[in-house]
Amino acid sequence: MGGTFDPIHFGHLRLAEEMAVALSLSRVLFIPAGQPPHREPPRIAARHRLEMVRCAIAGNPFFAVDEREVQRAQPSYTVDTLTSLRSELGPEQTLWLLLGADAFLGLPSWHHWQRLFELANIAVVTRPGARLLQPDAMQEPLKSEVLKRQVADPSAVGSAGSVWFQQMTPLEISATAIRTILSQQGSVRYLLPDAVLNYIYEHQLYIQT
Ligand code: ATP
Ligand code: MG
Repeated sequence: MGGTFDPIHFGHLRLAEEMAVALSLSRVLFIPAGQPPHREPPRIAARHRLEMVRCAIAGNPFFAVDEREVQRAQPSYTVDTLTSLRSELGPEQTLWLLLGADAFLGLPSWHHWQRLFELANIAVVTRPGARLLQPDAMQEPLKSEVLKRQVADPSAVGSAGSVWFQQMTPLEISATAIRTILSQQGSVRYLLPDAVLNYIYEHQLYIQT
């Protein structure tokens, strides 16, 4: 699961948890982006975003943080990340790329996006505010890929190439909203784990606009 995690919140954690259950995952890797190519640079340094992920997942043996994207000097392309994971795990290992609907619907703008299907399966959750995950509502060229690859039973997939859509408990939480509230000295308690909130206060993050 990739993201800027600027900061990590309960939307991310619940996505990971619900996917771990639905797909019987043995491990979820949180992979914070170093320099994401599709968007503005993250508001705060990678080391803080990484550390907040660590705080958020502490104590969950199924969740781990992976530093490979923040260690890269170049932009973090998901295709490179999956290529490197695939070379470590071998061709047989079933891999799932976990995405929210907004991210998935923007997939055709990603670097070598069609190669992602050769490297992993893709699991997508609904997200409040994002368009629905119905192939008929999608634009080409994404629509054709979905019609070709969508599966009804995610337990029967191969190591890569399938697409699975999953309903998720709707949580209308975004890192953007959290940053805005913090910059106005508002409360973000119960939108993210207390451990993350404590880290934010300790390091005075997101306070200055
Ligand atoms: P920002 O507002 O800065 O874009 P964000 O809350 O969207 O932050 P990201 O790091 O951009 O968080 O998202 C990482 C992944 O998590 C994406 O695939 C995104 O769709 C998904 N995601 C984030 N928040 C939610 C949520 N509340 N429900 C479902 N999916 C989510
Ligand atoms: Mg986002």
